Amino acid sequence: MKIGFIGLGNMGGPMAANLAKAGHAVIGYDLHAPMPEGVAQAKTAAQTAQDSDVVITMLPHGDILRSVAAEILPAMAQGSVFLDCSTVDVESARQVADQAAAHGVLAADGPVSGGIGGAAGGTLTFMVGGSDAAFGKISPLLDIMGQKAVHCGASGAGQAAKICNNMILGVTMIATCEAFALADKLGLDRQKMFDVVSTSSGYSWSMNAYCPAPGVGPQSPADNSYQPGFAADLMLKDLRLSQQAAAAVDADTPMGADATELYRQFVEDEDGKGRDFSAMLPRFEKRGRS
Ligand code: NAD
Repeated sequence: MKIGFIGLGNMGGPMAANLAKAGHAVIGYDLHAPMPEGVAQAKTAAQTAQDSDVVITMLPHGDILRSVAAEILPAMAQGSVFLDCSTVDVESARQVADQAAAHGVLAADGPVSGGIGGAAGGTLTFMVGGSDAAFGKISPLLDIMGQKAVHCGASGAGQAAKICNNMILGVTMIATCEAFALADKLGLDRQKMFDVVSTSSGYSWSMNAYCPAPGVGPQSPADNSYQPGFAADLMLKDLRLSQQAAAAVDADTPMGADATELYRQFVEDEDGKGRDFSAMLPRFEKRGRS
């Protein structure tokens, strides 16, 4: 296929490289990032759209997505697919899909989980919103960039799945970290705490696969001085998207709201910026109740 790829940063760069490696003709555009191996350089965003069967975007947020979409959709061929893999608000995803439809272009929102390692290794999970026709056309590309793709429903459903998943993740990571800090103060050995919880009803991905305590459980960013991994800043972004979505549909999400405020404090008022989101554990460790 001919593929345009816009946004070749930490995630988009390796995703585009994997498509090129698999034999697709990929033309890329980014304001700053260098072209990955095998990817031709476009002079403008619109140039990536010309003759492309699929244009993929991997951009920082919804405002940028909307402005890039407005630039490229008029240049895209009828029946081609606009696939946005960024994590953005549900509203932006739906707006872009409506604009695409007005240009005769199929649209899909396909945010990912799996992080930079998943992007490089081609093992991302895609959660996709859009029509069956759009999903069918992009499926072979998702198989190259990822190991699993779930068609979640109509446009916006992929972003909805992503922010609900990450709201659970933010809340459970905080719960896991505060429980470790409590266990410390109760004199419970961290390894024993892990041995019990990881095989009891408190288990979760945060405990079992990404344990925030250094030297306990499988290798995780905690074992690397909390270098991300998944940065607390990105968790804050996703939690804010969850609260924006919750406000738009009048959903009561008190735990999501608390997690958002805790990550906001951690990133904006404390030392959390640039640290892994599991560095909540050393944060709780240092604190008392007041
Ligand atoms: P990044 O900042 O490394 O990459 C974004 C790229 O977009 C940059 O290279 C930037 O120059 C480019 N860009 C910005 N505006 C542009 C424009 N108008 N035209 C062309 N290029 C433009 O970010 P990232 O870590 O690759 O994340 C991208 C998206 O993926 C975000 O929405 C993020 O939330 C999501 N995501 C990231 C991770 C992760 O672990 N990094 C995991 C899952 C999802």
